Amino acid sequence: MTGTTQDDYTDVYARRVRGMTTSEIRALFAVASRPEVVSLAGGSPYIAALPLDAVGEMLGALAAEQGAVSLQYGIGQGTIDLRERICEVMALSGIHGASPDDVVVTVGGQQAIDLLARLFLDPGDVVLAEGPSYVGALGVFQAAQAQVHHVAMDDDGLIPAALEEALVAVERSGRRAKFLYTIPTFQNPAGVTLSEERREQILDICERAGLLVVEDDPYSMLSFEGDAPLPLRARRRDGVFYVSTFSKTFAPGLRVGWILAPHAVREKLVMMSEANVLCPSAFAQGAVTQYLTTMPWREQIKSYREIYRERRDVLLNALRDLMPAGTSWTNPTGGLFVWATLPEGLDSKAMMPRAIAARVAYVPGTGFYADGTGTSNMRLNFSYASPERLREGVRRLAGVMEQELAM
Ligand code: PMP
Repeated sequence: MTGTTQDDYTDVYARRVRGMTTSEIRALFAVASRPEVVSLAGGSPYIAALPLDAVGEMLGALAAEQGAVSLQYGIGQGTIDLRERICEVMALSGIHGASPDDVVVTVGGQQAIDLLARLFLDPGDVVLAEGPSYVGALGVFQAAQAQVHHVAMDDDGLIPAALEEALVAVERSGRRAKFLYTIPTFQNPAGVTLSEERREQILDICERAGLLVVEDDPYSMLSFEGDAPLPLRARRRDGVFYVSTFSKTFAPGLRVGWILAPHAVREKLVMMSEANVLCPSAFAQGAVTQYLTTMPWREQIKSYREIYRERRDVLLNALRDLMPAGTSWTNPTGGLFVWATLPEGLDSKAMMPRAIAARVAYVPGTGFYADGTGTSNMRLNFSYASPERLREGVRRLAGVMEQELAM
């Protein structure tokens, strides 16, 4: 079998795998990681801003002094120490009074989404999600053989009337919508935030329709202009499953996230997680606990906010100065991403090889929709590249677009 690209296992694969294909975009991303390419494609935090020497000492001590626990198996739900810290972190976001008992530690927010999908979705069930939505969640829903029905957004986030229409359409189709998957604050990929007023409206609609809400909230601490609006879970307890992660506020390499879930559901989630990973990494949980206990993590988040605010400004200014007429983009007040809409006639996916040749990368919009729309969009990340590289990246991108328009 070695050396062959032919897939000899096609008649053995499970049904859920049959639609899966490796995309040509994946291959392009391999090239995009070369140093000469300015990548606006990833979603990586700027880890160089962390005090890496101090983190290194902390990790060394965690093995040397607490190795009997930190290098051992743990329990499926996650350590009580970390779950207590997580409740303190959520209180900072406005979710008060959560019990550590109702927290399940996961392998990043990604496993949290996967567990909720495994728990709730049968093949053919419908998930409502913003259009566009987080690519990793779309992959989870596809693997669960669920159907994603996208709900439109504008600059104030999800549109309540569009959600109501979507519910009617799903009902007419004879399918069952199990939950709304939403990233209300500094959305990935659109960079927009659901307004205060709409938060209440969306919750009311979901409550009336008996639709659960999965609130994915990795970015709300990365606000550039005051505090972010209160999470949905801070407004409504019942029917809202809150997911978050330390990936954007500390380090994605540790792979630590969590779910806050009602009691009965929490027990099932733990059982599913045990079947999935036995337990989240004891070492990674120890690292996050130590970080939150002994290091100035609130200051670190402030410094991330400042770095990203400056980079957002650089990116927006460069777009304004350099993009061809007819291009538009969102104006994020936090998070990591800008969503751009290209002038008529340009296709972001078709343009990608030319962009890579011009040494700039982005993510084409189609990746963020389950239904193939998004050809005239792209996601641009501003957290990772330096301000100089961001501007240079936009200059290269604008050059490619001008050439396409002239063709
Ligand atoms: N949800 C959203 C909206 C994200 O953007 C990400 C990371 N890009 C995740 C979940 C998953 O993050 P992680 O698994 O690293 O915690």
